[in-house]
Amino acid sequence: MPETIDQITVAPIPARHWTELGRNAYTPEGLGETRTEWLVRARTTAGVEGFANARQSVSAEGGSVARLIADLREVFLGRSVDSLLALRNGQAVAAGSEVLQALTAWGWMDTLATDLVSRTRGESIATLLGGRRRNRIPAYESTTYFQDLLHPHRGLHQVIAHASRGFADGFRQFKIKVGRGGRAMTPRDGLRRDIDVVLGIRDALGPDVDLMVDANFGYDGQPENLAEFIRATSPARLTWLEEMVTASVEAYRALRDLQATLCPETLLVAGEVDSNPPSGAFVDLIDQRLIDGYQPDIVRIGHLRWKQLESRLAEESILPIPHNFGNGRFGLIAGLALATSLDTWVTLEDERIRPNVYADDELTVINGVYRAPDGPGIGVDVDNDAYARIGAPNEVVIRA
Ligand SMILES: [Mg+2]
Repeated sequence: MPETIDQITVAPIPARHWTELGRNAYTPEGLGETRTEWLVRARTTAGVEGFANARQSVSAEGGSVARLIADLREVFLGRSVDSLLALRNGQAVAAGSEVLQALTAWGWMDTLATDLVSRTRGESIATLLGGRRRNRIPAYESTTYFQDLLHPHRGLHQVIAHASRGFADGFRQFKIKVGRGGRAMTPRDGLRRDIDVVLGIRDALGPDVDLMVDANFGYDGQPENLAEFIRATSPARLTWLEEMVTASVEAYRALRDLQATLCPETLLVAGEVDSNPPSGAFVDLIDQRLIDGYQPDIVRIGHLRWKQLESRLAEESILPIPHNFGNGRFGLIAGLALATSLDTWVTLEDERIRPNVYADDELTVINGVYRAPDGPGIGVDVDNDAYARIGAPNEVVIRA
């Protein structure tokens, strides 16, 4: 009897950041503290269980829980595990032909399929994708939003205290949100605060940590302020500049000129809004090497397709630096699995979600590094006691 998927559950799981987050350049309000994971558990007739976070399906335009359930019935329920992926010499090379369209449209389905197939084979996702590449995964703290605007009386000091707490908690790489001078402050005041935040954090954390900035396009239409930001923060030796402006060849040519002149060691990175294969302006940015790192989201793309995307990027010597914000605690686990699978790894985005329903108590960042879990599939299981309290009260169960 071929192993088939005979039961699937779906449940919303609260995913809490370690603290309240402020806004960024485009969100009208702060991000608050709690987000939602849509945990899918798919079980086979042999009792093997695979996991994914289907948040993208529920939050997409036209998305709903009912639509998610219908998609799960159509794509996974009653399906044989063997038909999910095409393997060559024990290595996953493509989505199975019957599910190719669905797995291409929804990265979480790609991850669910990859998790199920690798667990059924008793091996990790990394092994299924060609071999485990590393055990130690550098990760960066990614919650330094506009904390100053949450606590105006503390201003700049609030942002520095936020990053300093991350250092005390074990992080050695930090991404700082900038781009205040658009929708959060006036261009002049926002520029000044952005510069003070970067220099203040560098001063507080010392010369050995890695600092990155992410403007979420907040410097669009402000070429002089963009140049001044890059010039004034060059003593901070930033590791990368992310989404300083909206992607276009013209904008990135200008940005490349500034970077080459003022901070030649700093990378230009973008692409969290894009997919695989690269589309629109990103095709030109990659082909003309106007970016150094490309950032499609881990859960939105999926593990098999990220592995395929890596080859395409390697042809142009572009670094894979996946986005991983909004993916919940599942995102950390999925990110560690991806990091063990890719030939090239820079650093994992960590939105610092507290433990919720996974048996991942040992996942702790120490001196800037996580140790990759050893378990099959994505490496970590659901903790059934925690799930009974947090997931089960609102779960939907579908059976073949
Ligand atoms: Mg970003």
